[in-house]
This record gives sequence, C-alpha cells and structure tokens, in this order.
Amino acid sequence: MTGIATRADAERLDAGDPLGRFKDAFDLPDGVIYLDGNSLGPLPKATPARLEEVARREWGGDLIKSWDKHGWMDYANRLGDKIAGLIGAGDGEVVVADSTSVNLYKVLSAALRMRPGRTKIVSEIGNFPTDLYIAQGLTGADSGRELLMAEKAGIVPAIDGDTAVVSLTQVDYRTGEMHDMAAMTEAAHAAGAIMVWDLSHSAGAVPVGLNAANADMAVGCGYKYLNGGPGAPAFLFVAERHQNSFEQPLSGWIGHARPFDFLPDYEPADGVSRYLCGTPGIIAMAALEVGVDLMAEADMSAIRRKSIRLSELFIERVEATCGEYGLELISPRSPEIRGSQAGFTHSNGYPVMQALIERGVIGDFRAPDILRFGFTPLYLGFADVWDAVEILRDVLASGVWTGEKYSRRGMVT
Ligand SMILES: *Cc1c(COP(=O)(O)O)cnc(C)c1O
Repeated sequence: MTGIATRADAERLDAGDPLGRFKDAFDLPDGVIYLDGNSLGPLPKATPARLEEVARREWGGDLIKSWDKHGWMDYANRLGDKIAGLIGAGDGEVVVADSTSVNLYKVLSAALRMRPGRTKIVSEIGNFPTDLYIAQGLTGADSGRELLMAEKAGIVPAIDGDTAVVSLTQVDYRTGEMHDMAAMTEAAHAAGAIMVWDLSHSAGAVPVGLNAANADMAVGCGYKYLNGGPGAPAFLFVAERHQNSFEQPLSGWIGHARPFDFLPDYEPADGVSRYLCGTPGIIAMAALEVGVDLMAEADMSAIRRKSIRLSELFIERVEATCGEYGLELISPRSPEIRGSQAGFTHSNGYPVMQALIERGVIGDFRAPDILRFGFTPLYLGFADVWDAVEILRDVLASGVWTGEKYSRRGMVT
C-alpha cells in the first residue's frame, strides 16, 4: 500500500519531492502526461541551444579545427565515461557509438571469438526482437553456430560447456521483469561463457552495477531513459580485464590505434575504443550529452525510490478503479524485480491505448495485447500518475475506445 488515498496526498508528495525540480528541465507539451519515456525520452530544454552551439559555433565557426579544438575526437569516450557513472562501470570502460543493434553485433561477435570452439549463444524467449535477430544473423545456416532461446527458468540449465555467450536484456521491455544481474553473470561464468547485458531499459531507470556483478560486456540505448533524442547514439561497455583481448568484426578506421597514420593494415586501438568503427555523429552526441548530464545530476537511488513509488501508485489505482474492465497486471508485483515500467494486458489493448493517447496520457501498446506505461521520476509526479489513472478509467468506463478510428494502426505502436 502506498498510503496515497487522495489526489491531495499525491500533491503533497510532489510538493516535498527532492527530484521535483527536474521537471522544469524538460519541454513537455501542456496537457500531456508522458508515460512513454521508456520508448522515447522527451526533449530537455537545454538541448536545442546546445545543438545550435555545436552547429553554428563549432561546425560553422571552427570547421575541421573542431575535432581538436572542441574535443570531437574523444567525445565518444568522454560521454562514455559519463554514462559509466550511471551503470556501475569505471572510466575507460564505456564508449558511445552506433546503434544498440550494431553494438550487439560487435559485442556478440567479439564474445564468440573469445570462446573459439564453442558454438552456442544462449538467450531468452521474448527478448527484444533486435537482440534475437542479431544473434540469428550470427548463427545462420552455414555458421556452425546455434542460438538457443529458453524461457526464463530454463536459461541457466541451457548454459553449458558449449556456450560461448549468454545474451540477455536486464529489464524485459514488455513486462519490466528484471534479471538478477550478478547471479546470472555468475552462472554464465561458471560454464566459462561470456555474459552480455542489454541495458536499454535499465540505464537511467534503475541502479545498475556492471562491475559489482562482474559483467563482461554490455550495450544500451541513448534515446530512452537517457533522453538523448530520436535515434541517439547507443553505448557499449567492456570490462577492463577484457579490453586488450577482444576482436570485433567492424574493424573501421576510427577504432584503429592510429587513425591519422593512414596505415594499410588494421591495428586495433587499446581499450574500449577498438569498438569504434566509423566517424561518430557529433551533433547527435551533443544532444545525448545534455540528457546524460541531467541524469547524472540526479541521485540514482532517489530516482529508484521515486520510480517504485510512482509505479506502485499506478498499479494500486488501476486495480482499485479499473478492475472491472479486464485489465490484468503482466509486470511482476514485487517492485524489487520490476524495472521502471508497468504493463497490463487488455483484449483490446490497441484501441484503448489510442483513446488514452488522444486524451493526453501517452503510453504505448506492445503486441499482442499489452498496455505499457513507463515511469520516469525526473519529469513525472504523483499527481500526474493519479490523473493518468482517472483518465484511463474514464476511457474504459465510457467505452469511447470502441470508436472505429482508434483501431486504425500506425507504423509505430
Ligand atoms: C530499444 C531497444 C533496442 C534498440 O535498438 P536500436 O538499434 O537502437 O533500434 C535494443 N534492445 C533493447 C532491449 C531495446 O529495448
């Protein structure tokens, strides 16, 4: 029980909230309650000015001199170090590059090469599609390798002496269920396998302890809880102990030890930088940095405490007021093993979500039948959550979602 029984209780909590000041750092449209920051984080107010500066002063004013003058050349590493602070990694262990999908390709390939003779990638049924698709691409017909997908309880039993790599997403994108990172990593290591974590729904959402868990490699997304903007560059972690002993297949010139020697043969850079491939997108990194700086300013344990309280309030109110309309919680009931989101199934989840969005409560729909709501303590308050549930109840009670227009599907759900 949250002890929040009225909207006035929720308002009181907002008034005393130490994270409350961050709301003003985001540019959210009036009348919107945004419960989809787990899919695309909103625009920080400081981002447009920073983009203007990079475009006009750095690119426009200093042209190619900017690579040195404005630190463009090691931007991916500096920003990586900032992200490292959010995920329990050390300096020099994280770099910003490419997309999460491309980084998965590099990391899984590197892990396979570190375990020659082993042929299996173990992953989870229901893992995020791109994680499975990339693994499928690496284990195709004539590869001599195999992707084994297991239900959650079957993952550890599936790891054996033939397993090169275990690849899992820490927080399930649909249900929010969270793996025990340390225990799973230990199980992978016990069989001699490399452990790869996808932190797309973890970074900026829950405290992550990569080094505390002895993780090997990880990837994650910049445009969700890190608020880096649509298609923001992703990040990638490799533990210090592996840094000079891995090879990745996208051996581009920016990951070379001395790119400006223009040598004919590839020689990998030391450290995490060998995961770089081509010229980084400076403008996109500048946007990501604004989001990461905001996140780094807030205390991650305060974020987690508030996230749990917001999601507990949401679940409690949905169950108290919408119970008769066929919503079923699909997320773990225990907040300890739930990320910063809550999902409910509904047999008409898609039109219900569309009607809700039209009324200003933006969550999303995940096939086949899940209404998904993300809780982002930097810009979401308790009264927002209270109101969101009132509007959801109204949509369900009135049956407005049965209107024909709500069933038409867009490209993105
Ligand atoms: C969002 C997400 C991705 C995104 O991959 P992109 O290459 O950025 O499209 C990957 N994995 C997981 C688990 C995600 O949630």
